[in-house]
Amino acid sequence: MVRLDNITLRYRPNATPALNGVDCHLAAGSFSWLMGPSGAGKSSFLKLLHLAVRPSAGQLHVMGRAIHTARRQELPALRRRIGVVFQDFRLLPHLDVLENVALPLRIAGRGERQLLADATEMLRWVGLGERLKARPEELSGGEQQRVALARAVVARPALLLADEPTSNLDEAQSRRVVALLQQMHRLGSTVVVATHNQWLAEENPAAMLRLEAGRLVEHG
Ligand code: ADP
Repeated sequence: MVRLDNITLRYRPNATPALNGVDCHLAAGSFSWLMGPSGAGKSSFLKLLHLAVRPSAGQLHVMGRAIHTARRQELPALRRRIGVVFQDFRLLPHLDVLENVALPLRIAGRGERQLLADATEMLRWVGLGERLKARPEELSGGEQQRVALARAVVARPALLLADEPTSNLDEAQSRRVVALLQQMHRLGSTVVVATHNQWLAEENPAAMLRLEAGRLVEHG
């Protein structure tokens, strides 16, 4: 699903690399925790995987495509098969919850009736079937995070990435979000979750990727 070979990522020439010589292989259908201190490169690792940045050196393959040599025009189609849950939700404030979740399907050109049905089903799945018409600001942090999760998975991504999806949530809400991520994993998505949350990772044993100062120090 994902292969990094000796990947280095620098945001500016000559800057200290955010990722340094990273080798890693994520099998299709795997679930991985991505851990490490603040500044270790977790967000950068996820940005590479959702094709928001390109490696400065090394080889990156995502879903069989060589990203390091791919032409820019090839990336949007691949990106649509990747779902991302951002730490700060990134919901659109002027749209209701249903329209936020429907948006990826609109962009993909799905028909109106089907996309509303699919978005409604996803919102039911995350327990928000009664809040379709609410604006994001009317929801709690945990509810907003579940909307963000519904939006990330509504197009049935092969690869699902979550960047600190529980950092703003209490324990009960955190467990609920992780249970939903695990359900997506059971349905076949490859899942990578960056977290600081040691107890959550211990409660839910899975492969562990640990970054320290841009280097992958654990991969098992
Ligand atoms: P983490 O998610 O583990 O906190 P990041 O991937 O955000 O780590 O950051 C890794 C390093 O890259 C840090 O030194 C950070 O300052 C730097 N960095 C991250 N994003 C940018 C950016 N857009 N421009 C320049 N430097 C960045």
